[in-house]
Amino acid sequence: MQEFMNYAENAGFSALCSFPLKGYTSFKIGGPADVLAFPKTAEQFAGVLQLCRRADIPTFILGNGSNLLVPDDGFRGAVLSTAELRGLRLDSGRIFCGAGEKLKALCMFALEHSLSGLEFAYGIPGSAGGAAFMNAGAYGGEMKDILRVCRCLTAEGEFAELCGETLGLAYRHSAFAENGGVILELELELQTGEPLGIRAKMDDFLSRRREKQPLEFPSAGSIFKRPPGDYAGRLIEACGLRGHAIGGAQVSEKHCGFIVNKSGATCADVLELVAHIRQTVLAQTGVELEPEIRVLDAIPIYEK
Ligand SMILES: Cc1cc2nc3c(=O)[nH]c(=O)nc-3n(C[C@H](O)[C@H](O)[C@H](O)COP(=O)(O)OP(=O)(O)OC[C@H]3O[C@@H](n4cnc5c(N)ncnc54)[C@H](O)[C@@H]3O)c2cc1C
Repeated sequence: MQEFMNYAENAGFSALCSFPLKGYTSFKIGGPADVLAFPKTAEQFAGVLQLCRRADIPTFILGNGSNLLVPDDGFRGAVLSTAELRGLRLDSGRIFCGAGEKLKALCMFALEHSLSGLEFAYGIPGSAGGAAFMNAGAYGGEMKDILRVCRCLTAEGEFAELCGETLGLAYRHSAFAENGGVILELELELQTGEPLGIRAKMDDFLSRRREKQPLEFPSAGSIFKRPPGDYAGRLIEACGLRGHAIGGAQVSEKHCGFIVNKSGATCADVLELVAHIRQTVLAQTGVELEPEIRVLDAIPIYEK
C-alpha cells in the first residue's frame, strides 16, 4: 500500500490507511478498508486504478454509501470514494453532473433552472453516480427516465461514453452492476417546468418519506427489491416479522421493508436477519425476495 499512498500524495488527493468505513455508510456499520481514497479527477481515478491493477490491489467504488452493507472486518484493498468528483453545469438544455454530487444538490440545481423530472429523487440520500448505478427511483420516477449519457472508465480502464441501451437501465439495475467500471459524469435531460410546481412536488415527496420511513435510525433504505405485483414490506409484515430483531438489527416497526440499525448492529446481524426474512417469506408465501442492498466486495474494475 506504500506505493498507493505515495501516488496519492504526489497526485494531491487524500488517502487514509486502515480507515473505518462505518462513518461513510448510512447503515453506520463496517470495519476498516486498508485504504480509503478520494481522487479528485477522472485522470486520478484512471491512474490509481492502473496502479491497483499492476499491484494486484482489489478496489471498490464508494458513492454516498446509502445502499451499502460493509463487512465487519472491512475490506482488504482500496476503497475509492467519488465524493470529490463534483461539478454541476447546464449546457444546451442538459445537466452535466459529477458522479460525486449528492442527489439533493442535483435536485436543487434542476429547481434553480426550472427543470422538471428529478423531483422523485429529492430525499434519496445517494450520490448521482450511485443513483445511476442503481437506477434509483421513487414515486413513479427513476433515473432511466432522464439519464441520457454516463461518462465513465470501463472495466478495462478506458474512458467511454455509454448511452441508451448500453446503460442497461432496468429496475434497480444498470450495466455497471455486471461490467464494473466507474461512473464519472452524468448527462441528464429534463423538461422545462414551473418552479413553484417543481418545489411543491419535491416537498410532497419529502414529507411522504418522513411520514413512512424510519429516518430516525441508520439504514440502507429498502432491503429487498419489489417482487412482481407486490411489496416486500407487505409480505414481511404479513409473515409476522414486524420488529423482529437479531442482535442490533431490526425489521423496522414503522416500515417493514427497512432493516434498521437499532443499536450497534453488525454486518453479521444484518445478514442473519436478511437470511431469516428470506426463508420465512419463502416458506409462508412462496415469494423469493431479492436483496436490493449491495454488500461491499471487490468488483473487477479491470479484467485480469
Ligand atoms: C433512508 C433511505 C431511503 C432511500 N430511498 C430510496 C429510494 O426511494 N429509491 C431508491 O432507489 N433508493 C433509495 N435508497 C437507497 C440509496 O439511497 C440509493 O440506491 C442510491 O442511489 C445509492 O447511491 P450511493 O451514492 O449512496 O451509492 P453507494 O451506496 O455508495 O453504492 C451503491 C452501489 O453503487 C456503486 N457505485 C456508487 N457510485 C458509483 C460510481 N460513481 N461508479 C460506479 N459504481 C458506483 C457502488 O460500488 C455500489 O455497488 C434509500 C436509502 C436510504 C438510506
